[in-house]
Amino acid sequence: MVTLFDNTLKRLVEAAEHLDLDPGFLEKLKKALEMTQARLSIRMDDGSIKSFLAFRCRYDDSLGPTKGGIRFHQQVNADEVMALALMMTSKCAVMDLPFGGAKGGVMVDPHSLSNMEHERLSRAFIRAFAHVIGPDRDIPAPDVGTNEKTMAWMMDEYSTIVGKRTPAVITGKPVALGGSLGRDDATARGAYNIMQNKAHTLGLERGARVAIQGFGNAGMHMAQLLDAAGYKIVAVSDSKGAVHAPAGFDIGELLAAKRCGGSVTSMAGSAGASEIPGDALVAVECEVLALAALENMVHKGNAGSIKARLIVELANGPVTPEADEILKAMNVVILPDILANAGGVTVSYFEWVQNREGDRWTLDQVHARLKTAMEREADAVWAYVRDKNIPLRTAAYVLALSRIAAAMEALGTEKF
Ligand code: NAD
Repeated sequence: MVTLFDNTLKRLVEAAEHLDLDPGFLEKLKKALEMTQARLSIRMDDGSIKSFLAFRCRYDDSLGPTKGGIRFHQQVNADEVMALALMMTSKCAVMDLPFGGAKGGVMVDPHSLSNMEHERLSRAFIRAFAHVIGPDRDIPAPDVGTNEKTMAWMMDEYSTIVGKRTPAVITGKPVALGGSLGRDDATARGAYNIMQNKAHTLGLERGARVAIQGFGNAGMHMAQLLDAAGYKIVAVSDSKGAVHAPAGFDIGELLAAKRCGGSVTSMAGSAGASEIPGDALVAVECEVLALAALENMVHKGNAGSIKARLIVELANGPVTPEADEILKAMNVVILPDILANAGGVTVSYFEWVQNREGDRWTLDQVHARLKTAMEREADAVWAYVRDKNIPLRTAAYVLALSRIAAAMEALGTEKF
């Protein structure tokens, strides 16, 4: 069976073909640096004890301390955590951040937990992994199923264990506890910055129709930013289903429907919106398809039905390599995950810097630095596209690999 990790590694191996690399560097990157598994046992509100499997993978630290989110989801497994940690390694390198890559996860349905159970599980995670993480070693952040509250509990637990307040151990915290302004919409804003900067190259025009799969943190903010810039949001989905409004949604109404009804599907029947099956969203008539849910959502079975000319990967690994080939033949451009959704980790880096300096940046400073970073690295990726005549995804991995390899080279041969 081909796993998510196999698919992720495949992209790195393809990129290596375009570089004159010491094969030893790629060999090293085929294996994770460190994979830790733990059992987290917590007392539930009803007095019973439940155990959950948890993982933390530090994939590679050539460029610096490792960085990556913690996911709470029922399908979390070692392969997925390792694949996402490898993606983080590449993403930090693409953005030229002084970080390696990591990922963590707990096999749990977060919706099944009460607020207090969520807190106990978050603190248990830190007790189990305190020896792995640290502000100079491995810095977690939120991911699917975790949020700023989770990060606050985790930072507090770590600070208690080490006996000193350590905000830089984790990012994505509430602003009141040292979180950065602008972290909430950073992932969507990073992609938005590239879309605006490269609008001409990507053939994007005002009024372009957008379908968004996944209406959580990344998808919701993307909808707001694109709507404000004159794009038309014509379809959105979440885990409960999808809604389609060919004339475009009123974003205020859509956000209210999601907030009050718990799902975008509660928008159906109002303002020209009708419910469609969740898996029909990718095939909706539109110019841009933003994927902001989970991995492997576009595969060889549905890639051929896509009408959009541009796919924006806000999620990690939403398009399989087989689908990549189909979409390439259809001339669909893919803004790849390790560049498109890197705004999140970039502002996480800003948060880490602010925590270490005891500083606070204004929202304008964060937005300006994010825009500069996204445009700079998008230019670097596009330069490889032009020089080597390769797709954006391969170019992004070439850029990442060249930076990781340069760090490995500089570290010398002692570690081999
Ligand atoms: P989230 O939990 O806030 O939102 C996920 C959304 O996807 C929810 O609306 C959920 O209902 C929906 N969803 C789940 N299964 C679905 C399905 N089968 N069809 C349609 N929708 C479905 O998570 P998020 O933080 O927005 O992250 C989304 C993706 O973006 C993940 O792949 C994550 O790794 C990636 N990402 C997020 C960030 C960030 O800063 N939030 C940064 C980088 C990458």
